[in-house]
Parts: sequence; C-alpha cells; structure tokens
Amino acid sequence: METRIGFGYDSHEFKAGVPLRLGGTTLDHPEGLAGHSDGDVLLHAITDALLGAVAAGDIGTFFPPGDPRWKDADSAIFLNLALEELQNAGFQIVNIDTTLILAAPKISPIAGEMRARVADLLCVDLDQVSIKAKTPEGLNLDRVVQCHAVALVERVQEPEELKSMSEVIESQRQLEDVVEDLLSSVHGIPKRRVEPIYDTEDIT
Ligand SMILES: [Zn+2]
Repeated sequence: METRIGFGYDSHEFKAGVPLRLGGTTLDHPEGLAGHSDGDVLLHAITDALLGAVAAGDIGTFFPPGDPRWKDADSAIFLNLALEELQNAGFQIVNIDTTLILAAPKISPIAGEMRARVADLLCVDLDQVSIKAKTPEGLNLDRVVQCHAVALVERVQEPEELKSMSEVIESQRQLEDVVEDLLSSVHGIPKRRVEPIYDTEDIT
C-alpha cells in the first residue's frame, strides 16, 4: 500500500471585533483572528497538509489572499477543495495530527467538539483526527495563533483492480490453486497435485 505524508503550517494574529473560528467551530473569546477569510488557522494548516501530501501546491495556489471571493470565507471551503485534490490523486486520509500554539483560550475543554467537527468535515472517524494545543512559552507570541498539521494518506485501491481479481477466479479449481499458491508463498507449504473434480472417463 502506497502511503504519503503531508505537512502544513499557518499563523494568524488576534484581532478585535471578529469571531474566533478554530477547527470549523466558533469559540467564546473576546477576539478573533485577522485574515482574508475567517482566519481559521487550524483548517488552513490541515488544508496545506492534505495538499502537500499529494504535491498539489498550497492553499494560496487555489485561493489567492487578494481574491474578493474569499473575503470572510468559511475555511471549510478550502478544506473541501483539498479533499477533492486528494481524492482526484487517488488517495484517502489515514490520520491527521495537529498542534495549536496559542496563549488563550484554553483548547482542552473544547478539543473534543473541534475534533468531531473536523472529522465531520473530512468525512473520517473521530479517532483519525487529533487536536493538541500548547502555550507559546518563551516565544513572546501571545498575540498570534500558530498551527502545525501532519496528514498521513494512503492510495485507494481501485474498484477496477478488485473486479479484475475476482474475474480471475472462475472455478473451484482455480480458487484452490490460488489458495495453495498463497499458502506455499507464505508458509512454504509445498503445492499438492490437485486431482480433477470430475471423472475423465465420463467425458465422451
Ligand atoms: Zn491562514
């Protein structure tokens, strides 16, 4: 199975008068994040990690910051585009891990809700998404939220490949051959001679 890894990083500055959007949820906080879109630093980092895993560029390739169409846009749109790029390249998500770096608000009480929302947006199970947070100790960056994200992805097995595999096995005899080949390759069990399942005398 072919696997790939992608990495994403983003940062946004705090700004008064806008809602704080993180992981597709709105948090109760006096300030939000400045940005051309809704400033969702977590979704932006995941978007870049997914695009990076299939070498499809980055968020700015698809959504230039100056484009008025993305002014105050819901960052779920960016994530959706990255998912489409991933699927077009023939890959699916194995898991996502993220670390937010911010002085406030505390993330642990709401990490569960954020994980559920991100898993929903990515169409994966909850245990495939991890969201962690740290305070920016010693960085003098209390006015900034940063996020790092990694995405592991795997190639999706083509339905056509499965179909052709099933077409190969047309008879009981062939099935036995396939099983014996597998056994002999895995366990070194020598192949036995398979007797015909019909009596050759009966064939006229
Ligand atoms: Zn951003």
